[in-house]
Amino acid sequence: MPALDAATLLMVLTMVDGFACVVWLLLGEVLRIAPGAARRVALHHGLLVLAWWPTLPDWTEPVLSLPLSLVCAGLLTAGVRGLMRLQHGLNDVIAVVVLGLVVQALVYPDLNTARAVLNLGSCTLALMAVADILRGTGFRFGVTGLLVLPYLVLAGAGLWRAGGLLGWMPAGMGLQGLSYNAPLALLRLVVNLGVTTGLVALVLQRLIARVRHLTRRDPLTGLLNRRALEEQLQRLQAQVDRGRTHALLILDVDHFKRINDELGHAGGDAALRHLAQVLGEALRTTDNFGRLGGEEFAVLMPDTDEPGAVLVAERLRRLLQERPLTWEDKIWPMSASIGVAAMRQQDPHGRDALARADAAMYAAKAAGRNRVQRATVARVAA
Ligand code: GH3
Ligand code: MG
Ligand code: MG
Repeated sequence: MPALDAATLLMVLTMVDGFACVVWLLLGEVLRIAPGAARRVALHHGLLVLAWWPTLPDWTEPVLSLPLSLVCAGLLTAGVRGLMRLQHGLNDVIAVVVLGLVVQALVYPDLNTARAVLNLGSCTLALMAVADILRGTGFRFGVTGLLVLPYLVLAGAGLWRAGGLLGWMPAGMGLQGLSYNAPLALLRLVVNLGVTTGLVALVLQRLIARVRHLTRRDPLTGLLNRRALEEQLQRLQAQVDRGRTHALLILDVDHFKRINDELGHAGGDAALRHLAQVLGEALRTTDNFGRLGGEEFAVLMPDTDEPGAVLVAERLRRLLQERPLTWEDKIWPMSASIGVAAMRQQDPHGRDALARADAAMYAAKAAGRNRVQRATVARVAA
């Protein structure tokens, strides 16, 4: 098989970059997936097409290809930072790019030193991307390893080549630029595909997480919806059958219809959001707080027995009473009736516990509202 020459590889590289640019523009602008980050990555690929256009004359390398490549490396790191949803700004990325551009201008027309500056800059920016990925993925071994690999290759190759160009070590991959350097062009192509695959996988992961969020959350309050609560209940039931102790409560707002009547539907919605926020802050992160529908909520409490759950329910009841709703300059008191039940073994999908808590909640309503009722006591009373 004849060896691939640099010109052909450069042509393929240009096509891959052009295609990636269009794909990222579609992802960001049309599908609105991480639009800011997608724009940076699209610009990275688009400018690379320009920087390494195969028919550019040699004299353009120091004035076009080298500075643009450095800007592209910065855009990629900026894109990664955006996709990782890291809040810190881009000052460090901009500083590295600007410093590189200034040094490139100062060493002009010394081509090899300018190339070395580009490689050192790219190496630094690739390592910054590695740091961002490590921070963003929370060091999950498999995913993180695959994502950082192309950037580590990019950083290692950049360092090696810079060393060669500056005469500090044997010239890695020759001294010529990308246009005449087949191994370098091949490495760029492989790394480019690795980077693109990794970033697309990351975006897909985000998309799946968003869809999952939408299917599991109540749009009004942001709490778990009935489906998510039932799934979790089923999981907890399996643990109860193996000997663990879990409990749950059902909470129904008292006279909610009056709130709707007095404050309007928007006021009623605000009351539901208020309740979700106030009570959500008071619960443990391990508790599953969700909206069963209407003005009815549930809290699944892992590793909690019935007396413990009654204490939680009492705390929530008091908290709601102490924190009335403020709506359009009106202060509106709110209260709720709560039924508490411990989960029991051999209860299919935990539905019996839910039904017992519901019955207890209605017993609390019947006993005068704004109170907590235990299911066991409610059964004895019945
Ligand atoms: P009780 O003390 O017996 O629980 O009386 P209640 O008025 O709270 O109970 P009821 O079940 O009769 O009324 C619930 C009302 O909640 C009826 C319905 O219009 C209203 N509602 C249900 N879902 C929503 C919602 O998403 N937003 C608003 N604003 N109101 C809702
Ligand atoms: Mg109600
Ligand atoms: Mg109700």
